[in-house]
Amino acid sequence: MNEKVVYRQPGEGAILFAYQFIDGLTKAEFFPVIQQVINGQLHNVVDKRIKRCDYCGYFWRDISLRNNKRKCSADCERSLKTLQKREQRALKELLNPKPKKAPDMYTYYADHLEYPYFLSEQYMLKRSYRFERPKAPDKLAQIDAAEQRGYKRKSKATPTDGSDTVYIKGISHKHRYGEVEASQLEEGYFERKYSERHQKLERWRAENFKLATK
Ligand SMILES: [Zn+2]
Repeated sequence: MNEKVVYRQPGEGAILFAYQFIDGLTKAEFFPVIQQVINGQLHNVVDKRIKRCDYCGYFWRDISLRNNKRKCSADCERSLKTLQKREQRALKELLNPKPKKAPDMYTYYADHLEYPYFLSEQYMLKRSYRFERPKAPDKLAQIDAAEQRGYKRKSKATPTDGSDTVYIKGISHKHRYGEVEASQLEEGYFERKYSERHQKLERWRAENFKLATK
């Protein structure tokens, strides 16, 4: 064994293989033995089923029918595939690198300066609009008036009129019940208002979706 072996986190098969040699050993006995297991000095060299895992590098015993597996566990198999893919991608990137994108001057923001600035004023305004929308002065007056009329942006439990009245959450103190009004549908109301096709559709809907809420 002169070739340099790359060891990685041992897979299930490798651990299972080593386990038969170290099972029942004391701590003092363990280290010399595991070193020999790793170097391949303990197992039967005639057994062609014992080989190094292509990924983790440790010895393991292939129990597959054809003895043609090269990785000790599904984990090692997956990891090796990932590794190969990563290497392929790196090679591809090295051979034909993607053209570097020119910096987008439209969105350029010189934030490394003491007084940062946007290169494009239009972009700056467009961007800031997302976070703080400008309001016309008369709109501010409208909001102020609405607040004075009782529209509150705060929760209803917080009095904004200067009083110490406490409003219970869920009960709208502004609500008033009006007079009950009765109305009667005129004769032929629907016929006048809706087309024949629309009425047919509504009739069909009422019959077929009696239980639906909508
Ligand atoms: Zn392995």
